[in-house]
Amino acid sequence: MISEHDSRSRGRRIVSAIVRSPTALAIFLGLVAGIADVGFIETNLDGSRVIPYPAALTWIFIPLIWVTLCLSVASLFSIPVLRRHLTAALAVAGPGLLLMSRFVPLLRRPMGLGVPAASAIIVAIVVLLVACVRRFMPSKPAFEVRAIVLALAGIAGLAWYSQTSVRLPAPTGKPPAGQKNIVLIFLDTVRYDDALQMSAVRHLAARATAFENAWAPASWTLPSHFAVLTGIDPWVVRFDGARSRFDPAGLTLAQVLGARGYTTAGVFANPLLRRGSGVARGLQQAYVAESCVLCASGIVHIIDRVYYHAGFLSPICDWYTAPEVTARAVDFASRAQRPYFLAINYIDAHSPYYVESRCGEEGRPSRMSDADISQLLDSVYGKKQIASPVAERSHEQYRASIRCLDHSLSALLASLEREPDAGNTIVALIADHGEQFGEHSMIGHGNSLYRQVLHVPMLLVVQGRPAQRISDPVSISDLYPTLLRSVGVSGVAPGLLDVPRRPTVAFYHIFLRGLPPEPAFSIASSRYHLIAWKSGREELYAYKDDPEELHPLPHSDDPEVAQLRHALSEAAAREDSQAAAFNSLGYLQ
Ligand SMILES: [Zn+2]
Repeated sequence: MISEHDSRSRGRRIVSAIVRSPTALAIFLGLVAGIADVGFIETNLDGSRVIPYPAALTWIFIPLIWVTLCLSVASLFSIPVLRRHLTAALAVAGPGLLLMSRFVPLLRRPMGLGVPAASAIIVAIVVLLVACVRRFMPSKPAFEVRAIVLALAGIAGLAWYSQTSVRLPAPTGKPPAGQKNIVLIFLDTVRYDDALQMSAVRHLAARATAFENAWAPASWTLPSHFAVLTGIDPWVVRFDGARSRFDPAGLTLAQVLGARGYTTAGVFANPLLRRGSGVARGLQQAYVAESCVLCASGIVHIIDRVYYHAGFLSPICDWYTAPEVTARAVDFASRAQRPYFLAINYIDAHSPYYVESRCGEEGRPSRMSDADISQLLDSVYGKKQIASPVAERSHEQYRASIRCLDHSLSALLASLEREPDAGNTIVALIADHGEQFGEHSMIGHGNSLYRQVLHVPMLLVVQGRPAQRISDPVSISDLYPTLLRSVGVSGVAPGLLDVPRRPTVAFYHIFLRGLPPEPAFSIASSRYHLIAWKSGREELYAYKDDPEELHPLPHSDDPEVAQLRHALSEAAAREDSQAAAFNSLGYLQ
């Protein structure tokens, strides 16, 4: 039998062995920080998780990056002049950095602390930690270089894997001669009224069919893109919240066109549109800002913040900036075998409303401040009412990001116009949803069906069609049959250029954490916008007279409203209720 004294002395021997070797200490502290960081990511403690990572990758690579960092610091501090600071350096590089990256924001929000106060608490914890470790630390470090080289090779391999694009076999079908190219551009989060300030939009509208009353089928990215790219209402398809994807359903535009000999590609800046999401099916070349699992680590969060505040040109993780999207799209369009289909997503107008320094807005931050983002998150999650100065600042930053995005969009359209076959290219420009800035006490998107999040710009340039404006309410989902019919695909539903047009219906679940999900549908006619919750609650607006939807109308017996109610009940009957799946997603953007 092992006595308590024996086990205590064995524990002491293990601790002593760890602290005797800098390599062992670095690996130990790196693992402690890494495992704690994985716990933070997996529990989504700060509610900021956007992309669900495979647990296996998280458990391997997050500890690996922490161990690598600690081993690198051990290497640096093993030179004689720095050796006496080695323990302190390791305590800072491992647990210290973790606390700074993860717990400063957590301390600030509930306790209302500023950065200096929150940082001081963290520093005090680190100093205590250093004091404890130092008691055991002898001063004869020996160092293993091989461990670092192996770890760095692993990290480099993952980075390469996560950033490479998909290359599928070339199309097999033979395209008919003179077939039209299609360029489909999504402006993520750009609402209708703010889109009108973009010179690229005005320029394109002068030669387009401009849909002035286009509505998105959902108020957030994934279902809206899914609907446009498949032509399927997102509420009739099962949504897998854990993997943040729709079950494969129907054929995407890329699949239909690829089978007809098109070269197909996507340049998606929003990482929600990653390859596993179900919207990139059929793309022979997919340039997707697929989030690397390392982007979730506390280390990269710290680097990310420093990088932004230092005024560098682009974020380093998770998305492409507008110039990067334009560069890839222009490159593809100039080299692609004809005919081609190219889908593009620009994300700059999404929070945190990124403004490049090259856009030259004097004194303008590159994105919203951390404090404003924190308030905005609390408001989206329904914890607090958004303060109106924060809403105003957010809207101003958003408009600045749209002005900046305008340059990259103009460059793309100008480049497409310079192509020798420009007269043979269909261009569709839309937004997936809008954004709220305090209207109805709401902020962001994905949390309501008000007009601010559903009314979006939509322009369509089809050769042989004169410029015109259409004021009927339409759904951007109907771009799918419209584009296919425009290139001669038969057997698809009527499109936006056919009359009568389909009614526009949108759908969402309220999936605020801690509240039961409450599905709702909305529908718009030429006069009314009706929002109906499953519980029976209704809101009705005459949005032509009340564009901000500030004044809900009393219950109406108008036959037009009765027709809208009937159409909504038909849509609701087709809903594949996946409330639990939506609720588990934890993503409101
Ligand atoms: Zn979006």
